Amino acid sequence: MGDMRIGFGYDSHRFEAGRRLVLGGVDIPGETGLRGHSDADVVLHAVIDALLGAAAFGDIGSHFPDTDERWRGADSAKLLSAVVAEVGAAGWTVGNIDVTVICERPRIGPHVEAMRARLAELLWPGDAGRTGRVSVKGKTNEGMDDVGAGAGIEVHAVCLLKGKSE
Ligand code: MG
Repeated sequence: MGDMRIGFGYDSHRFEAGRRLVLGGVDIPGETGLRGHSDADVVLHAVIDALLGAAAFGDIGSHFPDTDERWRGADSAKLLSAVVAEVGAAGWTVGNIDVTVICERPRIGPHVEAMRARLAELLWPGDAGRTGRVSVKGKTNEGMDDVGAGAGIEVHAVCLLKGKSE
């Protein structure tokens, strides 16, 4: 068995009226967006932190500080692509990811397949047919706490990195 690393990522963002909602690199029309310096794609942010965590490369804040004007309104897909390239340059390839999205709305189920396809494109550039290695699961917080009251969206993500020789 070659070298493998597990990583965990977490993120949360509050809803903010007047912004578009982007989840997992997919535009979700007709829903309230999220507050954030970038496009506030809370799913991609959690995935980025899972990859960085697995490689022990710090976190999203150290790579893309929200005090830096370069990242204002940034497309988080570009940030994830940069992180995939960084871990790839260090000899790692992504094995799989598993993502749980927690919110009262929107309903995540209707958007799962689009998110899986987009995540596969970003994680394996040039070989996006790996949707079987991407899991996205949606659930509510059963009305509990601020997320349950509809204040925002929370995301938990894990990933496996494998040595490139695997
Ligand atoms: Mg974030």
